[in-house]
Amino acid sequence: MSKMPRRKFLSGAATALVGGRLIQNASGAPMLPVAELTGAAPLIVSTWPFGKPANEKALEVLRANGSGLDAVEAGIRVTESDPNNASVGLAGIPNADGVVQLDSCIMSGPGHRAGSVGALSGFRHPISVARAVMEKTKHVMLVGDGAAAFAAKHGFEKGPKVSPGQFAAWKRWKAEQKRAEKNHDTIALIALTPSGDVFGGCSTSGWGYKLPGRLGDSPIIGGGLYVDNEVGAAGATGLGENVMRYCGTFLVVEFMRQGMHPQDACLETIRRIARLDPKGFDLSINFIALDRKGRFGAAGTGTGFEYSVTCPSFSRVIQSPGVTTADIGPVGGNRK
Ligand code: ASP
Repeated sequence: MSKMPRRKFLSGAATALVGGRLIQNASGAPMLPVAELTGAAPLIVSTWPFGKPANEKALEVLRANGSGLDAVEAGIRVTESDPNNASVGLAGIPNADGVVQLDSCIMSGPGHRAGSVGALSGFRHPISVARAVMEKTKHVMLVGDGAAAFAAKHGFEKGPKVSPGQFAAWKRWKAEQKRAEKNHDTIALIALTPSGDVFGGCSTSGWGYKLPGRLGDSPIIGGGLYVDNEVGAAGATGLGENVMRYCGTFLVVEFMRQGMHPQDACLETIRRIARLDPKGFDLSINFIALDRKGRFGAAGTGTGFEYSVTCPSFSRVIQSPGVTTADIGPVGGNRK
């Protein structure tokens, strides 16, 4: 995913960053926290610009009195169906064996329920299978062949294990005997409903040419996604190995519980991980968050990343602040 350089974004939109938050536009009108200004619910936040049509679908479902789970599922299915998305759904980059293995999970604030699938091959909508795991079994997570057998038994739509274009690219990659490439993204989508409940889901094909059987953070509750109906929700995208070792989204939600604004909670989570991790800021991780008050935010390593925010009064892509500076003191604390 190409990232707009932060400077370009700032000058282009004539915005000001204060305390990590965009606060005004060229005419001095306040920009954030937009949700506070609109007092808007429903509010939907997702990762990357490709999340915007997913948000809009989720909003449509909520406006038609659909449930929070219906909205999350329908939104993520939009991204999973996109034949041009190489990191979500069956058009995604396959694993090292040339097979697309999908990871996904879903959570409901009410009831604190969760469902998840990992390394699922041959089904178009892992988010729907994850929801069925939550609603039709006593379990939270199914993986691999077991997940596929469950999906088949419940009649979920099948699809090719890899797209023709990705298969051709995989053959070239295989011939060159390169190491697995870090090409990956995830749709994580979190929603606040008019009733004040929170929901979320995420879906990805994971790290391109990954080892078969590799699970990233996206199917891990508290890793790629966490929802707590007392507080809010958080989602992650980036190198899952650097999120799941720190229970990244759980940490974001816990910081919000302590009173932090969602944006500060995302920034602080990245700072915490960078302080501890041998990689310092070289983590490639990004978080989105919203709280029950209808506030939202995001942060990423490097120059930040773009995320999508949708509520009844607007739908747009926003550049998150990045975390690169040494304002937190030495990073990489566990280097030895
Ligand atoms: N977190 C995903 C994974 O590690 C990939 C991404 O979001 O970039 O599988």
